[in-house]
Amino acid sequence: MSKVIAKQIDHILRGDKFIRHKKNAKGSTAIYSRNHPTAKFVRVVVDSGIDLTSGKASNQAGIKLVYINRAKSWRVITTEIFATAKKLASTIKTQEAAEKFVKTCKHCKAKKFTAKTGNVVCSNACWTAWAGKKKSEKTTKKSSQKVAAKSSRKKTAQKMTQSAVKKSSQRKGQKNLQRFTQEILPGDLVTIEKHEGTKLLQDLTGSILGIVQYVSKLGSVKTIWTANSVDLPEWLLPTRNAYVADAIPSYRFKVLSRQVEWVKVA
Ligand SMILES: [Zn+2]
Repeated sequence: MSKVIAKQIDHILRGDKFIRHKKNAKGSTAIYSRNHPTAKFVRVVVDSGIDLTSGKASNQAGIKLVYINRAKSWRVITTEIFATAKKLASTIKTQEAAEKFVKTCKHCKAKKFTAKTGNVVCSNACWTAWAGKKKSEKTTKKSSQKVAAKSSRKKTAQKMTQSAVKKSSQRKGQKNLQRFTQEILPGDLVTIEKHEGTKLLQDLTGSILGIVQYVSKLGSVKTIWTANSVDLPEWLLPTRNAYVADAIPSYRFKVLSRQVEWVKVA
């Protein structure tokens, strides 16, 4: 145990833009962390081995990667590796490189981690949003019926949009339509709702799933749609964090990962 080594470790980590945490909920040593240089929502976490009370270091720093999920919880995605002060900088690089070998959830693109059960699962637990879907899969209709339904749905969707375009051009002069907006953030796990005005017509949770990549200042939302079992064409899916409550059925976002509401814009 040495204070000199503690200083060295602290110096190396701060020099590499790590921040020192004020607390360690699980132990008595100082924790440091910073973002992964390239991977989104991944953080490099170092247990410095510096005792918070004595200020002395064990010269065994533990390095691991965590994924910050939608609920802002940290999920450990790599095995912790240890290094002395001398090898600390290079070991951090080694651990960072391990990121690309961590499996990704095919639904929401989050990193997977090994749960307490030993199962490798999505850090966002996004399958919980799919609970209703499995039931409906059991009662799947014959494929010919499915195809017929699909094409008729497509036609309905096209008709709907054509009439929507017509209606909206007819309504151009109309005022006093209520506008609604909702906070949508990058990383949000989303599905969609069919609505007419403020009336909810259909909740597509379990059928359509997306992850928000980017939200512009003007409210345009870029989403990666990772599942769409109802074959809604991408151009019908919402692209804005706002909607106008007119009499045309359309689709709006529903955020699954947080509790948010549509609010009326004054
Ligand atoms: Zn997932």
